[in-house]
Amino acid sequence: MPQGNVPASHLTGDKSAICDKSMRLTRAKKLKIERQDIFSEINAASADVWRECCDLMDRYQWQRGYGHAHMDFYIGEDCEGWMDKQLNKSQPLHSQSIQAVRASYFKSWRSYSVLKKTGGIKNPKPPNKRKQYRTTQWKKSAITFIESGLFGKRVILSMGRGRSRLDIKLPKSFDMSTSHLIATIELVYDYGQWELHFTYVETIVSPASGNGIMGVDIGEVHPMVCFDGQGVLIFNGRYIRSLYRLRNKVLAEFSHTISGCERHSKRWWKLTRRKWKRIRRIDNQIRDCLHKHTRKFLDQCKLKGIGTIVVGDLTGIRDNIGYGKKANQKLHQWPFAKLIAMITDKAKALGIKVKSINEAYTSQTCPKCSNRKKPTHREYKCKCGFAYHRDGVGAINIRQKYLGCLGVPVVADMAPPLGFRLEAPVALA
Ligand SMILES: [Zn+2]
Repeated sequence: MPQGNVPASHLTGDKSAICDKSMRLTRAKKLKIERQDIFSEINAASADVWRECCDLMDRYQWQRGYGHAHMDFYIGEDCEGWMDKQLNKSQPLHSQSIQAVRASYFKSWRSYSVLKKTGGIKNPKPPNKRKQYRTTQWKKSAITFIESGLFGKRVILSMGRGRSRLDIKLPKSFDMSTSHLIATIELVYDYGQWELHFTYVETIVSPASGNGIMGVDIGEVHPMVCFDGQGVLIFNGRYIRSLYRLRNKVLAEFSHTISGCERHSKRWWKLTRRKWKRIRRIDNQIRDCLHKHTRKFLDQCKLKGIGTIVVGDLTGIRDNIGYGKKANQKLHQWPFAKLIAMITDKAKALGIKVKSINEAYTSQTCPKCSNRKKPTHREYKCKCGFAYHRDGVGAINIRQKYLGCLGVPVVADMAPPLGFRLEAPVALA
């Protein structure tokens, strides 16, 4: 196989260097808990901190002569320091929980200004929306776990000096031996259910990975199509697509019925609750599907000794495509970012790197004769006689581009692509 001007580092990975490296791995876990009256008060207090941040930001900008709603505003260190001094510390929360809200406020500002600069999204909104409730976070030092014969397993969350602490019962199955790994706990209200979200941080020695390179084309028809240098594997997205169709259908049906009743009436609430229950179930199924796909994909990577996964850079994909209303709705719903985040997380645990490259021309270049031509159908056909699965061509070229030899002929003849498909459970069909 001709490799062209392949950078040496891509081919000769130094394995021992990878083995010695330790890394931090973050995992999240959810736990449903019984409702306590104080929960909504706590999350309302967190929302108050956020609101105060917004108000202070308005004042900061007004004092410095910026226009309305900080649309073109850049925040610097100075602003954070100023707000730190102004912030009212009397909220009924642990000081670190207050700090966490403030930190996430500035994080949103920073990502807003990045979006504004790069233009990743059209008209990004500054984070100045006031809400009634907000998730509350506790840091490690505010968390205590206790276990006693009489009261069972419990977690105690500190609410700040002089206030009574929050006492939450944990299920018998809760693994106390890993509790020292918990870095943060969040109190989350999710569609009528209270939950604790735990974040575990582990330091592990990163496992050795091979030095193979996998090119992945992420797309709407097929969530992932990948090429490892030998063969193409296609992940079929039909089931996920059918779930999205079902989601749209359910939403449309409910909004039709709901629009017929008086807002906030008994029937309105009943239907709204039922609607979100259905939608949540479908969302869970979609997430489950994505997990199965990415798990299978990473298993393949491990099996084939892959050290680097290359994905096409998808920022801006939603703006560039104008296939009409229907296709746009499809694209807007496709969870590209979620999929890439899942791949990245799972790859990290295996010591595999994930790189993204610009996708330009990867779907148009013929892998056999390097002629450039836009494919018009699902099948890529070149005048040299090469015909192959369209997204398969994309995956081959993404890998080639990463290796620095896009346009260098890769293959004479490709084996037909293999497929992986999730079947719909009978109840859904
Ligand atoms: Zn060709």
